[in-house]
Amino acid sequence: MLLLDGKIIRETKAVELRSAVRELGFTPTLAIVQTGSSGRSREYIAAKQKFAEEIGAAVELVGFGNDVSTDEVLYEIQRLNADPSINGIIVQLPVSRDIDRRVVLEAVDPSKDVDGLTAHSLRSLLENDPQGFVPATAKGILLLLDYYHVVIEGKQVAIVGRSLLVGKTAALAFLNRNATVTVCHRFTNDLPQATKQADILVVAVGKSNLVGREHVSPGQVVVDVGINVSDGEKLAEEIPAPRVVGDVDFAAVKDIVAAISPVPGGVGPMTVLALFENLLEAARRQIGTL
Ligand code: NAD
Repeated sequence: MLLLDGKIIRETKAVELRSAVRELGFTPTLAIVQTGSSGRSREYIAAKQKFAEEIGAAVELVGFGNDVSTDEVLYEIQRLNADPSINGIIVQLPVSRDIDRRVVLEAVDPSKDVDGLTAHSLRSLLENDPQGFVPATAKGILLLLDYYHVVIEGKQVAIVGRSLLVGKTAALAFLNRNATVTVCHRFTNDLPQATKQADILVVAVGKSNLVGREHVSPGQVVVDVGINVSDGEKLAEEIPAPRVVGDVDFAAVKDIVAAISPVPGGVGPMTVLALFENLLEAARRQIGTL
């Protein structure tokens, strides 16, 4: 079984991105708009800040409390849109309770939409038009498969999960790479039947152990996008440390499939990498070198 190791790719690609940043001649800057302060969001933001530092990019964090209104966030996004020193803007998801998610995502200038979630970018994805930005998770999944030379064209791809953030956008990204795509969700009648016939199985649901032995077949490539925090192992009197696991029962399937991405260390690092590839592309487009 081949382990699709996202951390190794991130390290290799960080070197390339660092020299691309140097060639750019200025510091590409990502603005992250954070509403509320869940522990998870803080961790994701910290991972982005760390990677930015590694490659010589900058992050401007614009943080709001839980009680912020949509109008206040819109005002800030408009300021960032107008600021020429900001090359990319993302709204950290999930947004806090009172925020209209679609309205704030849509406020981001399409030329700075490095998370690829404005209508402009989504339409580009639908039309397979390179003008928009491919959403970071979908792009990250493709980066992972491309690095390991997994052939996508002509292959059967099954995706479990149909959210806009992951499942649907990944489905379009695979279609654009000439795969035959099946999208499964909570109403799919016979999930094992749908997943077993795939050459590439992508799971993005958010339920640990959703995919087990009965869902996979020999020779398959499995990409586990899920991030679930479990209670972890309890050792004697110790308090168990939280443990991050994916949606796939790794131990159960690892001896059946040809390749699988681990959690953590698979798609997660790829999503951060894809975001900064988009940032660099945005910066190059803004100065007219792309
Ligand atoms: P979501 O809750 O918006 O969507 C979950 C999807 O799973 C839905 O489409 C639903 O129909 C489907 N689903 C639920 N139960 C199902 C079942 N029993 N069988 C089949 N399908 C079922 O979640 P999301 O935002 O798409 O995220 C999915 C997972 O991916 C989460 O664990 C999230 O943390 C993770 N994630 C990881 C990254 C990364 O970079 N690695 C990025 C984004 C999301």
